[in-house]
Amino acid sequence: MTGLFAIVGAGQAAATAVESLRREAYSGRIVVIGNEEHLPYQRPPLSKKYFSGEMPFERLLIKPASFYEQAHAELRLGVNVESLDLERRELMLSDGVRLIYERLLLATGSVPRRLTLPGHDLKGLHYLRTARDVERIRGELTSAPKKVVVVGAGYIGLEVAATCRQLGHSVEVLEMADRVMNRVVAPEVAAFFLAQHRSRGVHIHTDTLVAAFDSQTHNPGLVGAVLTTDGRRFPADLVIIGVGVVPNATLAQAAGLQVENGISVDEYCRTSDPHVWAAGDCTSHPSGRYQCRVRLESVDSAFEQARVAATNMCGRSADHNKVPWFWSDQYELKLLIVGLSSGYERIVLRGAPHTGSFSCCYLKGQELLAIDCVNNQKDFVAAKKLIAARAHFDAQKLGDVRVALKDALAV
Ligand code: FAD
Repeated sequence: MTGLFAIVGAGQAAATAVESLRREAYSGRIVVIGNEEHLPYQRPPLSKKYFSGEMPFERLLIKPASFYEQAHAELRLGVNVESLDLERRELMLSDGVRLIYERLLLATGSVPRRLTLPGHDLKGLHYLRTARDVERIRGELTSAPKKVVVVGAGYIGLEVAATCRQLGHSVEVLEMADRVMNRVVAPEVAAFFLAQHRSRGVHIHTDTLVAAFDSQTHNPGLVGAVLTTDGRRFPADLVIIGVGVVPNATLAQAAGLQVENGISVDEYCRTSDPHVWAAGDCTSHPSGRYQCRVRLESVDSAFEQARVAATNMCGRSADHNKVPWFWSDQYELKLLIVGLSSGYERIVLRGAPHTGSFSCCYLKGQELLAIDCVNNQKDFVAAKKLIAARAHFDAQKLGDVRVALKDALAV
């Protein structure tokens, strides 16, 4: 194959796809089109060390510029793909260029879910997805301590809350659910993180639904407070909203590709068009293991799907069935999650949360579906293998931290 392979989106998945295409000995033209002006970069530090200023932008880059030069991959950065014509196999770019591809990889990521409440267009309201978003937020956080209100206590909201607090700002977190990280972790783990934030002076308000954003009295264009449905008013110099993401499937949908909670792909990352593959946050895929379609928002999944898509684009065969994993850093706490816990029947804790290092095991029958490891790298490493092998456990041994995970198997 020597035709043009195009990659739309220059993020986590795109960088891996370039590497994998060349590794699979594809020698034709590769063009990567990304609407951000940067080389592909890692997003996780955006709410962590890049936000706090500890990590310079250069360290966010997944690969240096020399990598793309050596791989003879053409990068068209700061350029949006406006439309896709599946029949003509043509991409229309915002700079007026039209590209005919032989094969196409869509790696368009996801976009923050937006709140459209009264006052949603005031200045000082922020979402966090790109390096540019962080720069804008940091620009408003300079000098004196500010009053930051974070809407949403998911990973991103809590990571941002931790970082803002560490930078010396006062932080209120408003969460509509009855606990933090409610979509992903068990009440025991949520309670642990809630206590950790509170002990560091972050005020977390659960069961709290935002109704509107109010402006400052003397500056009507600028946010001054967040109002909640129960009549409370939280003064704010700055609001950061982290209420989830939606897959960026606009281009695919307009082109007529099948979309189902993201661009619909199979385990080979094939879309409904035989010349188009998709990878990363923008996709949903069938999971034999979980018996449902799954949409993942994680670096590991973006990398893995990109590798699988690139291999298949080169005419070889690879499938995507890895057990997902994810991490979150809040203060000195590292939360590592392996597997998906939905459908679990009981929880077994390994270790006591008050020690600051423990794991929460999600069991269905005797099978370990998922595990949340807090400052516990050892369990994480072992669990990755054991969950992949669908290992069954003796709950009593599992709950005994003196017994290594691999020795807690059911006989
Ligand atoms: P992206 O990296 O989002 O790249 C998609 C790119 O495509 C974007 O640059 C987008 O602008 C571009 N694009 C979209 N449409 C077009 C178009 N029409 N034309 C041109 N370009 C287009 N994951 C973890 O596993 N652990 C973490 O700790 C973690 N922390 C995170 C913290 C933050 C603040 C954020 C935002 C995400 C975090 N994630 C984390 C999630 C992780 O970053 C994503 O899962 C990952 O970036 C997905 O990679 P991707 O290539 O699918 O999409």
